[in-house]
Amino acid sequence: MFFSYSSFSLVLKYRKFRLLIYSYSQEYLGSLGREQLIAIIVESTAHGNGSLQYIKDTMAVTEDTNSLPADQERPSWCKCSGPCATMLSSIENKCCKKTVCIAKDPQFKIIGLNKTHLEMHIRSWADMRAENLDFSFSKLRWAAYSGYILWQFGKLGKGNRKVVPSCIVNTVRMRYPSDAYTGFRES
Ligand SMILES: [Zn+2]
Ligand SMILES: [Zn+2]
Repeated sequence: MFFSYSSFSLVLKYRKFRLLIYSYSQEYLGSLGREQLIAIIVESTAHGNGSLQYIKDTMAVTEDTNSLPADQERPSWCKCSGPCATMLSSIENKCCKKTVCIAKDPQFKIIGLNKTHLEMHIRSWADMRAENLDFSFSKLRWAAYSGYILWQFGKLGKGNRKVVPSCIVNTVRMRYPSDAYTGFRES
């Protein structure tokens, strides 16, 4: 696998662009009143610029990541406010260790959860490796985890696999679920 610098810088430029748009939107939307916000949302969903389901999904994730389900006890190794839970293998029992869970970081919501962003990530990798496009939930989860690693460490570190924290894994699984999950694979 060869990850050329030009493609990489293109991905970074795209990511910066997305983050810029995101912080601009946040600032602008934050300045509006409730009625203006409702009017904008209704208008943009009616014109296909966004979907009501997407808004519902985003709200669901925000609520989901606020706390663990009542029947699930927080593992002793978890120090964050996210949905850390006991994983299949002990190596995966890792927490982001941030008081406000990193899964709630606005940048992660783009890098790890935004479908358009994840599809771009998949597109750029498929293009470099001449693979067929696959936008299945399992591929979207792969894009979210590798995006998280790139965001946090600046590289994927082949041969020295990094463990994605449990809170991140569970947040991604809630958004893009699967019936069966495989544990961490040693490279
Ligand atoms: Zn945690
Ligand atoms: Zn966390």
